Amino acid sequence: MSELFDYYRPSLKVRGIERRFPARRIFCVGWNYADHIKEMNRPDVPQPPVFMKPADALLPDGGEIPFPPRTKDLQHEVELVVALQGGGLNIAADEALGHVYGYGVGVDLTRRDLQSKARKAGDPWEISKSFDYSAPVSTLRRASSIRHPAKGRIWLAVNGVIRQEADLSDMIRKPMELIAQISAYFELKPGDLVFTGTPAGVGQLKPGDHVTAGIDRVGDVHIRMGRLRT
Ligand code: MN
Repeated sequence: MSELFDYYRPSLKVRGIERRFPARRIFCVGWNYADHIKEMNRPDVPQPPVFMKPADALLPDGGEIPFPPRTKDLQHEVELVVALQGGGLNIAADEALGHVYGYGVGVDLTRRDLQSKARKAGDPWEISKSFDYSAPVSTLRRASSIRHPAKGRIWLAVNGVIRQEADLSDMIRKPMELIAQISAYFELKPGDLVFTGTPAGVGQLKPGDHVTAGIDRVGDVHIRMGRLRT
């Protein structure tokens, strides 16, 4: 019973302070970089898809991830993560950044084979997107110290070889627009996180791979893909 009542509360480290950022929900958007839309042969869409991962899919500050079962095509997607200190319903884009606490670097791990299957069947995305350890995120940096990064290199390397490399300024919809869009459907709250989409170069991961991802001024995160759990 003690385990039930003292369950794990997901949180993220914050650079420069002792207290951790209490994670509430994780919202993710798709199709936010033109080169990625092109590599996936997807048309540009007026409203990018929004999906969620459970907060306990976070792997705070990286570390080792047991390799997810039931996929032959686990893929990496490096993304800028926005952490909210405020919220509301129908937030105006020009007021959205006032609700931002800080930023981190996240990897939206994806069972691409199961996502393709779900897309064809019209099934939900949970087993392709919202599985255990599917959301490693770096230590956060506060907007009060780095402000709101609108440009800067975003990259991901596997075993030291660069796979994804782009600039935050390539984002089709800026964080302020994404916050406004999501808040039209959900009342955003302090602790909510937003994954803002990935640039081109998404690719496959294998057990044993070392993944490093970073964003200028925001930070970096290191992940090692462990063995398949049985
Ligand atoms: Mn993604």
